[in-house]
Amino acid sequence: MIKDYALHFPPVLITEEQQTLHKAVHDFVNREIIPIRERLEDEGDLQQKVRKLLVDIGLQRLSMPKEYGGEGIRGTLLNALICEELSRGDVGIAVSLMCTGWAWKPAISGNIKAVLDRFMPDFCGDKVQIGCFAMTEPGGPHGGGGCDIENAVYRGTKLRTTARFEGDECVVNGSKLWATNSGIADLYCIACTVDPKLGEDGIVLAYVPKKWPGLTVGPDEKKCGLKTDHNCPVYFDDLRIPGEWSIGPGGKAAELFWAQLPGVSSGAMATGIMQGIMETVLEYTGQRIVADKPIREHGGPAETLADLAMETELARTWYLTTAYMCDHPEIYGPKKGFLAARMNMARITSEKAVRCAEKAIQLMGSYGYVREYHVEKYWRDSLMITLWKGGTRLSRHNVCRAYYDLEI
Ligand SMILES: Cc1cc2nc3c(=O)[nH]c(=O)nc-3n(C[C@H](O)[C@H](O)[C@H](O)COP(=O)(O)OP(=O)(O)OC[C@H]3O[C@@H](n4cnc5c(N)ncnc54)[C@H](O)[C@@H]3O)c2cc1C
Repeated sequence: MIKDYALHFPPVLITEEQQTLHKAVHDFVNREIIPIRERLEDEGDLQQKVRKLLVDIGLQRLSMPKEYGGEGIRGTLLNALICEELSRGDVGIAVSLMCTGWAWKPAISGNIKAVLDRFMPDFCGDKVQIGCFAMTEPGGPHGGGGCDIENAVYRGTKLRTTARFEGDECVVNGSKLWATNSGIADLYCIACTVDPKLGEDGIVLAYVPKKWPGLTVGPDEKKCGLKTDHNCPVYFDDLRIPGEWSIGPGGKAAELFWAQLPGVSSGAMATGIMQGIMETVLEYTGQRIVADKPIREHGGPAETLADLAMETELARTWYLTTAYMCDHPEIYGPKKGFLAARMNMARITSEKAVRCAEKAIQLMGSYGYVREYHVEKYWRDSLMITLWKGGTRLSRHNVCRAYYDLEI
């Protein structure tokens, strides 16, 4: 029998309300996602059905402001707990939901009334509404794009998508790549600049609804994993929006842009993957007999299982304590310095998820490599968490910055 070990969290970190919500999402994932997860990758209709169920259980509007019909329940820790649970079922579904919140974060934190009034009520309704935060751009022969935009050292000078203000309007030109939910989003938050030479002072965050004149999308990227997360190029050709749908240049725009980058949720997603791996491999190795006894009764495999359990618990402890610190600025201060380093470290645990998946595949032999048992999917999906937001390499640079001035 597999014990329900994952549900025991230290009450000092997690409130009763958070525990209740967590348990509801845990049960939801067991009931609605795990039984169909093998088909989710291939069937767009099924993905949409799951998204609708997330709306029905209130997750889409959970963190949205109360005055627009949301629940107004915000917080890094709760968000991370939900991320872990959804990722145990399907990390792409978790990413898609989280990126809707991500797209909204600058408008909510900056209290951008024109954007909130116009678009928020729909996101608090009972229809699926999807958001996209688009920052990454194509690189070029002279660099830029990709990691350079996410690299704090460049301070926004590598952005190439431009915002030009004409009267009451903001005119956007350029293109974005890879953003989660691109192509299926109802609302885009586009990171752009009035002039890259101005660096942070030039940053603008512009909100654009889907099918807006001047906005076009390219074909879906064909990725090896994370297939329930949709990504495609997005183009802006003299796209005009009311100026009040944008933030910046100046003011809090740069702060809101950089606040998008470190994230505990990637660590929570990695933990969800590890938890899912653990559940699958425990069950399989308990059933499959080799050399006259279940795989997990052999010394070597038992030790590997202990390692998997330990890595999972370490990753969980790390993201939980870091999220708790983020939610208590009165004790731990703003998300800068060492706290920012902790957030980056939480995301580096995604490398552990990749290794756990590999170890699990080894434990399961050929069956670890087939879709039926899902561990190969965890492996494909976990790799992506190590790559986005500048990759674990830039995360490591950001960790170093808490200890010394690193100018690379
Ligand atoms: C599934 C998926 C979801 C995504 N979601 C979003 C999203 O929602 N919004 C969004 O804006 N973007 C998103 N992205 C884009 C993602 O954040 C970028 O792809 C990623 O940050 C890296 O950019 P790149 O792929 O262009 O890599 P590149 O910039 O080409 O970098 C390649 C590698 O070079 C190395 N490198 C880069 N810079 C340095 C340096 N300074 N020092 C040493 N080594 C370095 C790193 O190892 C890096 O991994 C997503 C991508 C995918 C595939």
